[in-house]
Amino acid sequence: MSHKILLLPGDGIGPEVVAEALKVMQCLEEKFGLAVEIQGAMIGGCAYDACGKPLPDETMHLAQEADAILLGAVGGPQWEHLDISRRPEKGLLGLRSDLGLFANLRPAVCYPALADKSPLNAELVKGLDIMMVRELTGGIYFGTPRGIRTLENGERQGINTLVYNESEIERIGRLAFAIAGTRKGQLVSVDKANVLECTELWRDVMSEISKDYPDVTLQHMYVDNAAMQLVRAPKQFDVMVTTNMFGDILSDCVSVATGSIGMLPSASLDAAGKGLYEPIHGSAPDIACRGIANPLASILSVAMMLRYSLHETKLAEIVEYAVDRVLQNGYRTADIFIEGTTEVGTDEMGDKVVSALHQCTLRRAS
Ligand code: NAD
Repeated sequence: MSHKILLLPGDGIGPEVVAEALKVMQCLEEKFGLAVEIQGAMIGGCAYDACGKPLPDETMHLAQEADAILLGAVGGPQWEHLDISRRPEKGLLGLRSDLGLFANLRPAVCYPALADKSPLNAELVKGLDIMMVRELTGGIYFGTPRGIRTLENGERQGINTLVYNESEIERIGRLAFAIAGTRKGQLVSVDKANVLECTELWRDVMSEISKDYPDVTLQHMYVDNAAMQLVRAPKQFDVMVTTNMFGDILSDCVSVATGSIGMLPSASLDAAGKGLYEPIHGSAPDIACRGIANPLASILSVAMMLRYSLHETKLAEIVEYAVDRVLQNGYRTADIFIEGTTEVGTDEMGDKVVSALHQCTLRRAS
């Protein structure tokens, strides 16, 4: 059966890094028999320029039909003057919410060859491999009532509401337990149950469902402690699951520890496993069209797509192995360059990964 993949290159360096991810997919088709039907469409600023909308109907239709979507990045200074409803980022937010993508998976992996690029001590991060699972469609970012109102005494008051139903907590919890079951079997659920009743419920639900996953060890941790531990001893973590806002903050915090924003992929999944895969970085207008962007986050997004939506785990491992080989062989884009390594551009980095893939066999990566 052929998997339907939609490519949404977007703006800035988006098209440059997605082109390298496409090379990788084409290599997997030719060498390993991956069956994919690939289509492309517009999103973000380029879509606004072409048809006046950051998320054209045609793109939304193709996204609904696809099994998985690979996105580059959206946005740039040329669209910052637009009304918020027409900005490129609105296209991406619309896609996420219309597709019901409730789970955001953000791996933070520090390749040993890049440990010296981390602001943390290399020994603290060498071999770091955390999967952060963030609830994406609920919590304080969506709860009502919300807004800013003026009280009778003339003072203004800002309001946001942290709200989760049991079913929303259970849904993200079960996904996190299942992922932990395929890794080291250690899940840390992050909350603030000592202060926020909503996360007291979060903690209760996580404990209740843990009974269905006897192979996974569940630990609860307060968010303030989790932030400290991520900086003090990040390698203690395997999988973390948390609310929308805590996940937003903690996933950015841990991403810095890995050395470069150009290395980190992400996935946003719906209840059926369909996913939107994208690097965590933005459109990097400061380096667009210069051929120096790091395409590895986009290539590693393909690996996540293979694992979580296409269920091609071995191919996912092969792509990750190929990226590791290229780094170990000393090839670096400018953002991860260190003395003694060989600097390459976006296109050449993609070619190096494809060459490494050609040297792989299915058995070797298993
Ligand atoms: P950014 O992630 O685009 O760039 C931050 C810094 O990291 C820049 O110095 C950039 O050159 C560098 N960088 C990012 N990706 C890189 C890569 N692959 N290789 C090498 N260096 C890389 O963040 P920003 O500058 O705050 O935002 C730029 C635009 O991107 C804005 O319009 C913003 O709204 C948008 N944005 C989009 C997304 C998305 O599409 N998901 C996410 C974040 C920001």
